[in-house]
Parts: sequence; structure tokens; C-alpha cells
Amino acid sequence: MLIYSRRSALRTIIGGAGALLLSPYITRAARRNKEKLGVALVGLGYYATDLLAPALQQTKHCYLAGVVTGTPSKVPAWQQRYRIPDRNVYSYQEFDRIATNEDIDVVYVVLPPSMHRKFSVRAAAAGKHVWCEKPMGVSSAACREMISACRKHGKSLSIGYRLHHDPHWKAFREIVGEKRLGAVRSVQCAAGYRENRTNHWKQNKALGGGVLGDMGVYAIQGARHGVGMEPLSVLEANISQQRPDIYCNGLDEVVEATLQFPGGVQARIKTSFAENTNFLDIRCEKGDIKLAPYSGYAGLKGESPLGQIYFPYDVPWQQAQQMDNEALAILQGRPAIVPGEEGLKDLMVIEAIRSSAASRSAVKV
Ligand code: NAD
Repeated sequence: MLIYSRRSALRTIIGGAGALLLSPYITRAARRNKEKLGVALVGLGYYATDLLAPALQQTKHCYLAGVVTGTPSKVPAWQQRYRIPDRNVYSYQEFDRIATNEDIDVVYVVLPPSMHRKFSVRAAAAGKHVWCEKPMGVSSAACREMISACRKHGKSLSIGYRLHHDPHWKAFREIVGEKRLGAVRSVQCAAGYRENRTNHWKQNKALGGGVLGDMGVYAIQGARHGVGMEPLSVLEANISQQRPDIYCNGLDEVVEATLQFPGGVQARIKTSFAENTNFLDIRCEKGDIKLAPYSGYAGLKGESPLGQIYFPYDVPWQQAQQMDNEALAILQGRPAIVPGEEGLKDLMVIEAIRSSAASRSAVKV
């Protein structure tokens, strides 16, 4: 059985229309009657190059309008491939001039995590909406600063949690949210891969490296959305290194933790740069929901007593869905679908995990 609820699709549409009617403001883009938002990617590394730029060729409500990079040698290939005019190319230093560029509506920050706060705040100050990759920042304080900067300048802020736009995630969240298998009793979730690089920002603490902010946010997301509630505390956590020469100064390579939720529900999570693992098991009163893999770009699949959770992958990709959904929200004056607060919640859990591992005790989130 293919689980797809027309009811939920209708609810989304009705909810969106309602929000539009209630919206206190119409965005500048909407006032200018723009049909598509111009997006500038900041940071032209792997994710921007291999996923986001190609996905922006599939989107209907936004398009790749510009780039911001610290590596000028990358620019000609990007300009040629995506027909980006000179006026829409910026270095990090001259980035703030983007304020006067009417082609650019959204700045998408795709840099190492330690740089997310600064570029998001600069983008909001330049009057641009902000999309920011996960992890939202390196601390809850950084996330709060980003949220208040966007609020102050009246700009939308969304985090690149592509899975919120994936039909498999929508399906399991609907089963949990509607208690279609009764209440959730416990969750187990693991996200990891064998990271063989040794000198990348993922191995650099100052740049926001470590597995918790990287694959860890998927395990935390699986726990939070698998349970369908927010964790009250981290009961216990363990941070370890299988390769301490690479993951030095306490940088997290493997992390295991138990999260405590209201009603005594617990989630056990694991995240690792040392092994390939990817599953989400949600134990409910009337049976289990199992997804494996549950956080890839494609090939997700799952099952429950209600039937198979499987949507064959066609275009558009998750990233295209994500950017289109968020662009439409901006164009229609609705709040971000995955707002900054969602990224902040994960950083609060990460901080509690670190603190629990250091103190060997339970720590409130
Ligand atoms: P990457 O290393 O491939 O690219 C990083 C970019 O930042 C490069 O263009 C690099 O030149 C630039 N940069 C600027 N200053 C730098 C510095 N001091 N050190 C290192 N690089 C610097 O990384 P990536 O895999 O593209 O990740 C970028 C962001 O995207 C991260 O936040 C990551 O978590 C996120 N990401 C998200 C997904 C997803 O599925 N949502 C997948 C991959 C990456």
C-alpha cells in the first residue's frame, strides 16, 4: 500500500491559504509581483555544486541568480554553466553590496557551520531572505542571533532540512501526529557514514566540525519527529573517538545518547563518522514504523502495519521541493515552512548532549 493522504495535502493547501489571509505583511518580492525569486548561493563547495545548483534548475518558484565565493577561480565555470551575469557575482568582502541588487531575493548560506551566523546576519541586514544549511550554527546563541536579525529586518529565515519536504517523512510524521498506531512508546535512530577525509572542516572544531552537527542533526531530527514531541532532557550521552589522531581535542566522531520526552518516552540515538548506518524505528502501541534508509537524498523506504511507505523517486529532488516550497511561502507572504526555530531546537539538544557527556549526568534541554 502506498501511503499518501489527500487529506494531508488538502490540509497543507488550506493551511497555507489561511496563513496567507492572516499574514500581516506582504513581502517586497510579492509587492514587486515577482513570479520567481532570485537565489544567491554563498559557498560553492560540494553541496552547492552537486545538489543545490542542479536542483535550482528544477524549481518553479526560484532560480539561481547569483553566487558569493571566496575562490575567484570557480567563478567563470559557474557563470558559463548557469548564465550568471557579472553584476550577480560577489566575493565575501564585497558581499554586503548585495543589498542594492534587485535580482537577488534570497541568500542561501552553504558554508562551514561556524560561518553560518555571520553570513546569515549580513544577508538579513542587506534586506535579503535567508536560507541556511544545517547545522544552523555552532551554538544556540548563534541561532538566536540569526533569528533576531531576520526578525529585525522583516526577512524570512529557513533551514535546509530537505527531509521535511520529502514524502516519506511527511508520511511517518502524519502517522505519529494522528496517533494512527497509538501513542509512541520509544524511538531508535542512527545516522552515520564512514568519513575518510582527515583535513576537512568536518575535522576542525573551530569551523564547526564533528559528527553531532553533521549527521547528528539527522538522528536528533529522527528522535524529535519520531516521538512527535520535544525532549525534556538528555538522560545520558557518550562522545568517543575511534581515530583520536584525526578527531582530536575531544572533537566528536561517535556519539550515543538517550533523550527523555514527556510521558517517559525515550529515544536512543547514535551518530557516527566511523560507520555507515541509517535507520529510524518508531515503536508505537499498535506496531512499529521502520524507515531505512531514512535520511538520504533518495531511495528512502519504510513500512508499518498500515502499509509500505514508499514513493518512487522522480524529479524534482528533495532540494528542489525544499527551495520551491520555501520560495512560495515567501512569495505568498507566509512564514517559513522550516523556520530558524527548528534549527535552534537541534542546537539546544546538541548542547545538552555535550554537557551530559562531559558531566556524566542527565542534563535538561
Ligand atoms: P564543502 O567543504 O564541500 O564546501 C564548503 C565551502 O565553503 C567551500 O566552497 C569552501 O571554499 C567554502 N569555505 C569558505 N571558507 C572556508 C573555510 N575557512 N574552510 C573551509 N571551507 C571554506 O562543504 P559542504 O559539504 O558543501 O557543506 C557546506 C554546508 O552544507 C554545511 O553546513 C553542511 O552541513 C551542509 N550540507 C548539507 C547537506 C544536506 O543534505 N542538507 C549535505 C551536505 C552538506
